[in-house]
Amino acid sequence: MAIRRLSESIVNRIAAGEVVERPASAVKELVENALDAGARHIDITVRDGGQSLISVADDGHGIPKDELALALERHATSKLPDDDLWSISTLGFRGEALPSIASVSRLTLASRPKGAGEGWKIQVEGGAMGAVEPAALAEGTRVEVRDLFFATPARLKFLKTPRTELDHAVDWVHRLAMAHPHVAFTLTDGTRTPVRLAAALSRLDRLAQILGRDFAANALTIDAERDGVRLSGHASLPTLNRPTSREQYLFVNGRAVRDKQLLGAVRAAYMDFLASDRHPVLALFIDVPASEVDVNVHPAKTEVRFRDSGGVRGLVVGGLKHALAAAGHRAATTVASSTIASFRPGGGGYSIPPSLARGMAEAAATYQAPLMRTTPSMPAPAPEAASADADQPLGAARCQVHGTYIVAQTADGLVIVDQHAAHERLVYERMKASLANGGIKRQGLLLPEVVELGDAGAARLVERRDELAELGLVLEAFGQGAVVVRETPALLGQADVAGLVRDLADELQEFDQALTLKDRLADVCGTLACHGSVRAGRRLAPSEMDALLRQMEVTPHAGQCNHGRPTYVELKLADIERLFGRR
Ligand code: ADP
Ligand code: MG
Repeated sequence: MAIRRLSESIVNRIAAGEVVERPASAVKELVENALDAGARHIDITVRDGGQSLISVADDGHGIPKDELALALERHATSKLPDDDLWSISTLGFRGEALPSIASVSRLTLASRPKGAGEGWKIQVEGGAMGAVEPAALAEGTRVEVRDLFFATPARLKFLKTPRTELDHAVDWVHRLAMAHPHVAFTLTDGTRTPVRLAAALSRLDRLAQILGRDFAANALTIDAERDGVRLSGHASLPTLNRPTSREQYLFVNGRAVRDKQLLGAVRAAYMDFLASDRHPVLALFIDVPASEVDVNVHPAKTEVRFRDSGGVRGLVVGGLKHALAAAGHRAATTVASSTIASFRPGGGGYSIPPSLARGMAEAAATYQAPLMRTTPSMPAPAPEAASADADQPLGAARCQVHGTYIVAQTADGLVIVDQHAAHERLVYERMKASLANGGIKRQGLLLPEVVELGDAGAARLVERRDELAELGLVLEAFGQGAVVVRETPALLGQADVAGLVRDLADELQEFDQALTLKDRLADVCGTLACHGSVRAGRRLAPSEMDALLRQMEVTPHAGQCNHGRPTYVELKLADIERLFGRR
């Protein structure tokens, strides 16, 4: 067969396969054009998942009448005035979107430039362009796309349900809206309006509109810079987490990206604070000089390539870690609002009747009595005379309930601490710090303890003897199927040595052989803390409770356990009063 040039309409249709993968990609391209035109209001309609109609209307600078036809031509763009691919500041630049969409739909482009007395429109059907005609519209541009993919039945077959396609469109609009907080957006499907965003005053306001006020209240502000690369945005405290990474929004130079490397950096930054199946919510904005990044990797432009990708990764990991460390023990304070909401009838996901909530609050008071009766030798906490501790962020310990929770009084409320989760975190953070500073302090046992484990269990522990010693646990083989423990990590206090060693032996069985115990430090510390002196179910003296609170205050990340759950909840007096209808 002879070689021949493909016709323009075929070329466009092939390009459409890449640019317009689904209706949401058309929505994205059209909204990007509106943003590039400086629009302040963008109104979008997506009917039948975008199949019967996608319409995007903006109040941007518009297109002059004599450029309407050109806008629909392939590789025609107003956005590369200097032909410089290394200094792209607009979202578009390929001049591909309009002709591609027009080649697989019935498209009308109508526009009235700023200051022009009238508007004009042009229609294209399956790539065939009509004449320029007058059109009635306000200043700005309106693009209507009807019967998308009618010319490419194969693509039509692969469309998901209208609902799914609509969700994808909404997702794209959300991403673009996050990067342009001052622009107002609406998106309707004809009956509902899933996107209604008034112009926001700040980026955090915009994020709150989209991700919810919970996010705004639980978010850390990220701001870091290195070698001319800037990282900004907001990221949730580990205690606000989700089962997927879907609510992680990443932007490079204002362009929404879904980059595996960057997502990996986020995961690395949170590794210490979240179980592997939980993910933070965040919106991160990376700004690099245009010459440091290539956005030209893929026509849909959701991938990027950095000149110094290691440096960018380091900035993301470092910036997030720094913000998390700065949050200190305060990490969990905002958990209170959801606690209160859940108490309040109809307030939250699960509501507790007021009478029961009252009962729960009273329980805290009555539990103080048995504690003091059974331990008469203990110095009883002064009933109301606030000690100096009451002025501390986590307050003065008042009592322990169910041998598990410490109730403390603060200057303006109360704090409930999960003593075990908190201790686990303290052990972890201190282990990390001592490992970094030359080793973990050990305490010798007065009587070395022999623990029977069975052959396999004992062998597993002995095999890792050197690593365990580094972590403060000194043991050796002792006859058949047993070990003798001589020293334990000092920070565990009076540990239940046999329980600890047995659990470790079990856990080692599940660990990947290739990983060192330091790689699994969070898990190891969890196991150690389980048998340390502050485990759940153990009675604590008031001085021990206060000591735990004071340690939490000075330990980074003490607000959440190793799996992202809060270690304490703070209730303000005002909230408690509201709970009882006193306000
Ligand atoms: P690109 O955005 O890559 O330039 P497009 O095919 O999306 O390519 O658009 C072609 C040209 O049409 C743009 O460069 C711009 O000049 C013009 N254009 C498209 N949409 C709009 C709009 N909403 N407002 C103003 N001009 C627009
Ligand atoms: Mg474009």
